[in-house]
Amino acid sequence: MDTEQYAGIIPGLSTEQLDKRFQYRIPEHLKSKVHVGSVVYVPFGKSNKRTKGFVIDISSDSSYDRDKIKDIYDISLDVDVRNTNLIELAYWMRDEYGSTINRALKTVFPVQDKVRNRVVTELTLTDDKLKAEEYYAKCKRKNASARIRLLDALMEHRVINSEFAREKLKVTAKTVNELKEEGIISVKDTIEYRNPIKVSAEKEELPELNEEQRIICDTVSEAIDNNVKETYLIHGITGSGKTRVYIELIKNVVAKGRKAIMLIPEIALTYQTVKRFVNVFGERVSVLNSKMSPGERYDQFLRASNGDIDVMIGPRSAVFTPFDNIGIIVVDEEHEESYKNENTPCYDTREVAKFITGKYNAPLVLASATPSVKSYYRALKGEYKLLTLSKRAKVGGELAEVHITDMREELKAGNKTIFSRSLIESLSERLADKEQSMLFLNKRGYLGIISCRECGHVIKCPHCDISMTYHKNGTLVCHYCDTVINNVKVCPKCGSKYIAGFRAGTEKIEQEIKKAFPTARVLRMDRDTTSRKGSHDKIIEEYANGDADILVGTQMIVKGHDFENCTLVGVLAADMTLFTSSYTASERTFQLITQSAGRAGRGEKKGDVYIQTYDPENPVIIAAAAQNYEMFYAEEIKHREMLNFPPICKMATYTFVSENADILSKAMDKLRDKLNTISKKYGKDIDILGPNRGSGYKLKDEFNIKLIIKSKTDKILKEIKNDLEKYTDSEEIFRKIHILFNKE
Ligand code: ADP
Ligand code: ZN
Ligand code: ZN
Repeated sequence: MDTEQYAGIIPGLSTEQLDKRFQYRIPEHLKSKVHVGSVVYVPFGKSNKRTKGFVIDISSDSSYDRDKIKDIYDISLDVDVRNTNLIELAYWMRDEYGSTINRALKTVFPVQDKVRNRVVTELTLTDDKLKAEEYYAKCKRKNASARIRLLDALMEHRVINSEFAREKLKVTAKTVNELKEEGIISVKDTIEYRNPIKVSAEKEELPELNEEQRIICDTVSEAIDNNVKETYLIHGITGSGKTRVYIELIKNVVAKGRKAIMLIPEIALTYQTVKRFVNVFGERVSVLNSKMSPGERYDQFLRASNGDIDVMIGPRSAVFTPFDNIGIIVVDEEHEESYKNENTPCYDTREVAKFITGKYNAPLVLASATPSVKSYYRALKGEYKLLTLSKRAKVGGELAEVHITDMREELKAGNKTIFSRSLIESLSERLADKEQSMLFLNKRGYLGIISCRECGHVIKCPHCDISMTYHKNGTLVCHYCDTVINNVKVCPKCGSKYIAGFRAGTEKIEQEIKKAFPTARVLRMDRDTTSRKGSHDKIIEEYANGDADILVGTQMIVKGHDFENCTLVGVLAADMTLFTSSYTASERTFQLITQSAGRAGRGEKKGDVYIQTYDPENPVIIAAAAQNYEMFYAEEIKHREMLNFPPICKMATYTFVSENADILSKAMDKLRDKLNTISKKYGKDIDILGPNRGSGYKLKDEFNIKLIIKSKTDKILKEIKNDLEKYTDSEEIFRKIHILFNKE
C-alpha cells in the first residue's frame, strides 16, 4: 500500500530567477501539518541547501523518480489555506503584472514565518474545597508565606495567571509546581492573540439609513444574497454616510456567516474609523497596518485563517487576508494612489479585489467622493454599476462655501506672503469665535515645477502638455518624452522675473502662522511629525479634542477625519499639483481640493474654504470649487482622449534600473532593435514612447530608464509583455538590470 504524499513546492529563493515548481516527499511526522499554503524548509540543489518554499499542491503521486525525490525538512508556517484561491491569485498576478511565481506568492502570503505564540498560563484552584482548606491550614502551621499569598489570591479569584503570581505575589515557579503536584491547582496554557486594536466597544446607536443609503444597501445586499459577482462604484460626497453604508453591508455579510474585507488607505486607518467598526463588530474585527510588529501581524493572519474574526480592516495588503468565505470587499477612497503597489508585482488592489470577489461570487464595492477617472469611465460604460450618495447625511449638514483667491492679484496689491488677505481675515474671525481651522499644503505636487508668480504661467513640454521639471544642472526636462530645454530666467508669457519653483514647506507655513497669530495654538502634521508610532493618532486626537486652533499639514490632514468644530480650510497653492509631470495631475488636484473642502463644516456650523491659486480660470480649479465631479470628469476625459492617455488607452510602463549607467545604456540600445520589430508587427495598434531618461533618471545612485507602451487593448500589451519578458530573460545583459513593470 502506498500512502506516500508529495507536495508541489515553489522554492522561495532570493535570486528569484527560478520560476518553477518542484516536488518533495512529505515525511510521516509532517503529514498532518503540511497543507496547501504552508511554508516549509526543503533541501535545494546539489548541496541540499536549506531553503524556504511555498506548498502549492499536495498529491499522492509524483511525476519524478521516486528514489530521487527528497524529503521536506521541516515546517516554518503551518497555515492551512482551505481553498486554493490565494494560490490561483498568485498565478494570476504573475501573469498580469509580470513577476515570478515566487515573488507573487510572497506578496499573497505576507506572513511566512511562525512568530512565537504569546502563551498565558492560568492557575485554577481545585474544585475540592475541603482539600484546599486542609492544605491551606497546613501552610499556615508551617508559616509557608509564599504559598499562603498564592492561596489567598486563588481563594479570592479562583483563577489567576502565572504572570500575576510571579510579578505581584512573588511566588516562584517551583512553588506553583508543588501546588500542582499536590493537586491543589491545575495549570493550563492558552495562546493569547496579540490584539492591535486598543479601543473597546461601546454601545452606539447607528443612525437610520436615509433613502439614498437604503437604496444602495438594498441593491448590494441583493447581490450578496444571490452570489452575484458585480462591481459597484459608490460616488458619495464627503460626509454622505458611505461608512454607514459599509457597516450595514458588512453586517449583512457577517449575519450570513461570511467574511468581509474593508480596505482603506493607510493614512485613513485612524482611531476614529476603527472605533466605528469595533462598536458594531466587537472582537470579531481586526486591523492590519504597516506599523504593526511581526507578532501582531502573524496573529491577525492566524485569527483570520482560523475563522476567529469576521472583518479585516486595513490598507492594500489586507486584501490578502486568508479568509475562507468572503462575502464582500469594500475599497474606500478607491481613487487613492496607495492602492497601487510600487514594487514587483505592481498590482492594483482594486483588480486583485475583483479577482477575489469573483472567486467567491461576491460583490466588490469601490467608493469615493472623487472616484478615479478610470473607475468612473468603467461605470459609465456599464462595466461597474454606479450608485450615488448626493447629500450630506447629517441633518443640517451643508457643503462648505468655496472661495477662489487669485494670488496674482495679491502680489499686485503688494502682498508677498503665502496667505491671501481674505484667508488671514477668516483665520482671525475663527480664532475670535473659538472655531478651528486647517491649512493644507500639497507638498509633493509642485517640487521641481517652474511657475510665474505674476501671471501663473507654467513651463510645459511643447510635445506633451505636461509640466517640465527642474534639474540640478539648470535644465528643464519632460518626464514623458525626454525633451530638454534650458531653464528660463524670465516668464516667456509676461516677462516677469518672479518665475521660480515654489518652495514653502509645512514648517515654513507653521512659522508664518505663528508670526501672524502669536497666541494661536498651532499643530503641524506631515511626514516629519508623524514618523513615530502613534504620533499621527496623537495629533488627530489633540485637534479633535479642541486642544489646537489651527492644524497645518500635508495631504495627511485631508483624509477622512471628521472634526465637528473645524469650519475653515485653506488650500495653499492649490494649482501646484496641476503641474506635476504626470497625466493624472489634474485628477490629483481635483481630488485633493474636493477632499480638503470636505473637511470644513462637518458639524452644525457652516464652513468656508479658501482655494489659493495662480490659475483661477483653470477648469479643474473651477470644478473643484463647485465641488462638481461630473463637471471635472467631462473636461478631463476630453483631455485624455485628445492626448490618448488611460483610461482611453491601456498603458504599460517599464522601468529599467541599474547601478551602472553604461550597462543600462548598452542594454537600451539592444532593446531598441527589439522594439523596432515589435513596432513593425503591431503598427498603428501601439504607441511606443522611449526608452527615455525620465525626471527620476538618477535616484539614490541608481539609474532609471522608462519605456511606455500604449495600446487600445490589454491583450496586445500582455502579448508584448510576454514577448519582452522572454527577450530580456534570454539576453545576458539584462541579468544585471532590474525591470519594474506597471500597468494602467
Ligand atoms: P462618509 O464616510 O461618506 O464621509 P460617514 O459615514 O462618516 O460619511 O457619515 C458622516 C456623518 O453622518 C457621521 O457622523 C455619521 O454618523 C452621520 N450619518 C451617516 N448616516 C446617517 C444617517 N442616515 N442619518 C444621520 N446621520 C448619519
Ligand atoms: Zn508670467
Ligand atoms: Zn514631452
